[in-house]
This record gives sequence, C-alpha cells and structure tokens, in this order.
Amino acid sequence: MASPAPLPPAEADPGARLVLAEHLLACESAVACARAVVDWLARRHGAPAACVGPGEVAGASVCLASEGLTGAQQAALARAWDAPGSPLATFRTRPGARWLAADALEGAAMPGGFLAVPLGRPGATAAALLMVGLPGPAVPEDVAWVASSAGPHLARQLASDARAPRRPEPDRLLRRVINAVSDPVLLTDTDGTLLFANARAEGLLVAGPDASPGRMRAVELNQRLFRETLAQGGTSVHRREVPLVDPLEGMDLLFELVTTPVLAPDGPSVVVSVLRNLTDLGRATQALGESYRQLRATEREARSERHRLDRVLDSVADPIILTDPAGGMVMMNDPAERLFAWPQAQGAAGEGAADESTLRRVRTNIALFASFLANLLGPVNAGVSRWKSQLTLDDPATGSPVPMEAMANKVLGDGGELTGIVTVFHDRTEVLERARLLERVKEVSSELEARVQSATAELAEQNEKLRRQAIQLEQASAAKSQFLANMSHEFRTPLNAILGYTNMLLQGVSGEMTPPQRRNLTRIDSNGRHLLEVINEILDITRIEAGRMPLHLSDFGIPELLQEVMAEMDPIIARSKLTVETRLDEGLPGVWSDRQKVKQIVLNLLSNALKFTHEGGVHIAAEYQNATGTVAISVKDTGIGIDVSNQEKIFEDFQQVDSSPTRAYGGTGLGLSICRRLAAMLGGRVSLQSAPGQGSTFTLHFPRRARRT
Ligand code: ADP
Repeated sequence: MASPAPLPPAEADPGARLVLAEHLLACESAVACARAVVDWLARRHGAPAACVGPGEVAGASVCLASEGLTGAQQAALARAWDAPGSPLATFRTRPGARWLAADALEGAAMPGGFLAVPLGRPGATAAALLMVGLPGPAVPEDVAWVASSAGPHLARQLASDARAPRRPEPDRLLRRVINAVSDPVLLTDTDGTLLFANARAEGLLVAGPDASPGRMRAVELNQRLFRETLAQGGTSVHRREVPLVDPLEGMDLLFELVTTPVLAPDGPSVVVSVLRNLTDLGRATQALGESYRQLRATEREARSERHRLDRVLDSVADPIILTDPAGGMVMMNDPAERLFAWPQAQGAAGEGAADESTLRRVRTNIALFASFLANLLGPVNAGVSRWKSQLTLDDPATGSPVPMEAMANKVLGDGGELTGIVTVFHDRTEVLERARLLERVKEVSSELEARVQSATAELAEQNEKLRRQAIQLEQASAAKSQFLANMSHEFRTPLNAILGYTNMLLQGVSGEMTPPQRRNLTRIDSNGRHLLEVINEILDITRIEAGRMPLHLSDFGIPELLQEVMAEMDPIIARSKLTVETRLDEGLPGVWSDRQKVKQIVLNLLSNALKFTHEGGVHIAAEYQNATGTVAISVKDTGIGIDVSNQEKIFEDFQQVDSSPTRAYGGTGLGLSICRRLAAMLGGRVSLQSAPGQGSTFTLHFPRRARRT
C-alpha cells in the first residue's frame, strides 16, 4: 500500500487546499485519506482532530486517524459512532455538520466540545465522521471545504478497501511465516514421514528428481539420521543433538532437534520439529574452550612466574617494593615487609597487636616512601624514568634509624604507558660507618703526620746538634792527637838523650863507677825505657786515630814472621824459664797483608803471655781457614787467666785487670787496644778465650789477602 508524501503546513488557503487535494488523490487507502485530513485540520487550527470509520472487523468502527487524542478517547469515539441512538450515530443518516457540547457524548471524548462533520458521498449515508475540537456552533469554512472534498474520496476508498482482500488466508499465511523462519522447521507424522518442510529444512532433507548424486546421498543420509533421532524422542517435547551433512558443501553440521508432538483430537497426530544449527555454536564453544584452556595455562604460568619472582625478591637482602602507577603498594619482599608492613601481617597469627610506637614507625616509613615516590610521579618528572634519593627510615622493631638509598624505576608497558614502579632500597649503615672510620683514620693519620713532622724536625735539630758536636769532637780529637803526637815527640827526644847518656855512663865512658852508682844508673835506664815504651804506644794510638798510620801491604810468609818474633823475644823467653812452642799448619799459604802490623800484634800477645804466666809454657799456632779465607795466629798460655767480666774491658785504652797502685804486673794498658786497632786496619779482629787460673788464648784473625781501604 503506497503512502502519499507528508503534508506541508497548511497556512495559505488556496495553496494549502490544493496541496491537500493533491495528497488525497494520491492516497490509496481510507486510513491514509483519513490521516491526511486529520493532520491538515489539526495543524491548521492547532486543535485535536479525529476521523471515525468502519474497521476491518465487520460491524466494528475504529478511529481511522486521530491527532491530540488518547487511545481511550479514540475508542470512546468509535464506540459512540457505532452505538445506535447515540448523538454520533445520528450523523450516519443526517447530513451536515454541527457542534456538539462536551457532555453530548458519554466518556467526554473531546473536552470543551467539538464539531462533528459526516463524510461521504452527497446524498448517501455517511461513511465516516470527522471530528474537530473547535468551538461552535459555526462551522469554519475550511472545515466545510474539507468535508465536501475529502468525504466522497474517503467513501470511495472505504468501499475499495472493503472489496480488496485485506490479508492472506490463514493457511497460506502460516506457510509463509514458517518459510520465513531461518531455522529448518518440519512437520512429520509419528513415523517420521515428511508432511511439510520449510525452505531451510528442504535444503537439508529434500532432493528433487534432478538433484546431483552427491546431494541425493547427502539428503538420504540426513533423512536417515533425522528419522533415527526422531525415533528416540517420546510423545513429549524433546531436545537432542543430531549430526547432519550440508548437501551443498559436504561439511559436517550439528543441529539441536526440538520436537513437539501435536495431538489432533479429530485426526492423526503429527510432530513439529525445529532444527537449530549448533555447528557455529559448537565451533565457538570449542574455540572458547581452547581460549579458556590457554587462559588457564597462562594463568598457571603467571602464577608460577609470580611465585618465582616472589622467591627471587625474598632472596634479595635489600628491600624491594612494587607499586602501581598511583603509588599504591602492590608487592614487597620480606626485607621490605619488615619496614613497611603492619606488624600483625608480619608475624604468625595470634602474636598480638604491635605496640603503638611500632605502628607509628611503620606509618612514618610509609609516609616517607610516599613522599619519595611523589617526586617521581609528579608532573616535573614526567619524562624521568628513574629517581634516586636518600631516606632515613625507622626500624619498626627497635626504633633505630636506618639510613637508606632508594632507587625507583618506572616500568613502562608496550605502549610506553606507566604500569608500575619498582623501588629498591640499599642500607647505607655500613657505608656510612666505613666513611666515618675512614674520616677517623684520616684524622689520626694527619695527627700522626703532624707528630712525625714535629719529631722529624726535632730529630733533624738533634742531628744537627750531634753533627756539630761530632765536628767539635773530631776537632778536639784531632787537637788531642796532634797534642799527643807533639808531646810524644817532645818527650822522646830528651828521653832518647837521657837513655843515650845513661848507656854511655854504664859502658864506662866517664870512668869506672861504683856498684851503687851502676845500680842507680841501671834503674834510670830501665824506667827511661819504660817511659819510652809508653810514649811509643801513645804515639801509635794517636797516629792510628789521626789516620797517619798507613797500610804497607806485601807478600810474606807466616813461618818467617814467627821466626823473627821468636828471635826478638828470645832473651825474655830465656829469662822466663817457660817452654815456648810453635806449631804451624801444613800448607799454610803466603799472605798479602801489612807484615809490620801483624808482627807487632803477635809480639804484643806473646809478650803478654810471657808476662802473665809463671809456670808451664806458651804455645803459638798458625792455621789457614779455607772457608773464610782467613789466617789465625793464636798465642795460648798457662798463665793467670782473665775473668769473663774483664775480657771486654782489657781491649780499651789504659785498661788493665789490676790497675791498683800496688799491682804486681807492669804495663800501660795500651798494648791490647793497639792490637785491636791494628787488627781492624788489617780487616781482622782479636778474640780471647780465658778463665781465671786456666790460662788464656788470644787469637789474631785476619784475611789472607787484605783489601786496601
Ligand atoms: P799491659 O800488658 O801493658 O798492662 P795490655 O793492654 O797488653 O797492657 O794488657 C792489658 C791487661 O790485660 C794486662 O794488664 C793484664 O791484666 C791483662 N793481660 C793481657 N795479656 C794477658 C795474659 N796473657 N794473661 C793474663 N792477663 C793478661
């Protein structure tokens, strides 16, 4: 049924009427015609309007079109038009419009009254009634015009609608409806014989005589499967799955079959079957199951990753906290929990609530951490990915401060968005302690340095003093040596003269002397010689100390040297009545040294041995010690011996074991000190082995080949 174009606003009289007239001509149904008239009048007058006419059910009128009326008002108007004897029903036979008051109708169809205008062919019974909510009793001219021009047209349309079949016959309609259903629908008898199938069902279960063999086979198979499945159902509503084949594509399909038996009281029973395609649903379910399995596997993997991560994090000694982008704590390891988690959560259940101070410290730590994170999350640091700072947290258990270095790293997602923040803390207690110790060490070290500097300065001062003293001593020693050398020389000259004259007198140069004169002169000679010996020894020492006694190195043999010594000492040996023996090593090599000095040392040692030995003898031995390259000449006596306490002392100047004025042995106490100095000049030394009453052994050790110094 075609519908005319919507009406334009009806402002100008001739134009508007023309438009309505054209519109009415285009209307192909009574309803469309009534709608056009009602709309035109309602808009033109801004009032409610309606058109009542015959409905589809014979004998019952309806509101063909209305504007500004409720459904109840429309129904009331239709009833009033049909009710015999009602004010409206009179319009069916009485032509002409008139105004009806509001209470003219039961149900007050139009408050305030309305104009009622019968519509139809002139002279015939009214086919419909037009009603406009306008004050009466005068009928506006355009309302009258509408009634005269639309009335006949509407009557014609009503007659035409009544002639045309308004709907298909119920059986055909049912078939069309069933065919329009997208699922296959079948009607079978109880044996499964197909009575009716919609287009979809025919596609699966029916094949024409000209169908391809493949389709024939597929349809046969489908029919068999369908019948078998149908046979499993009872007489009640039944649901089960039935696998079929797509006759076109050959693909496997899965359907849910819903069968409903329809029991006809006067005929054979039939079964209505509806097939619902589950293939896609099955596939979707399968895919869903697979996704679900994957999801579970991923979930398991994530859980195990999380466990692993937890274990890794807990094994780290440094506290680590993972926070979400808003700064909320998501995860933390055990060391972090000790600082940031509420104590109840840390301990085993039932440990009791922590005291207020512990809670306060945890709160403080959390606040410090939040303020640290705020720096990283603030707009100033939007482009910064890591933030480092130093915080001093409180140990919740003990309250002692824990200096920490916190390093926060932003964790970004694939799209660069912030997904979390990982913060790692590093305890700086040890570092600070080390720095403190280092500082202390530096302080001590600089103190020490200052002390060393002052000690060094003092030492340098002392050294300087010592150096000056050494110079002074050296100068004094040189002066002393010079003095002694001069004095010795000064002493020796007159002394030699005295000894010379004494000797001449003793030889009788001035005539024979009486025995007392000779005795006295002999004493003068003896004392003079002793004095000369002392002066010579002093002179030797001063010359050695003044460096005026040079080495005269030469090749010589020890045996010859010892022979000379023995010859020189012979008168003394003879007087002593001691046995003096010499034993020389076989293969004693010749030596390169200062012969005079070696001889002087040996003479001195032998002279001492003879002096301090009263009985027994003196044994002189010489040997060469290959390992050290030294020659050893020892003088061993059976004399009085020397106590250990005196064995060092006797090598010093003027030192004797017995230095009392009443001492039994003469001497100056200079002999051994000269020997020690001379041996040192040769690169050797003098050693002593002795014990009181058991004799003494003095040994001169010196290198076979002296080195010139
Ligand atoms: P002097 O013999 O002129 O006193 P020395 O320097 O030669 O001087 O000797 C120092 C002292 O060593 C001697 O006075 C003596 O007491 C002791 N002495 C030296 N040789 C011997 C020795 N062979 N036996 C015992 N005492 C000795």
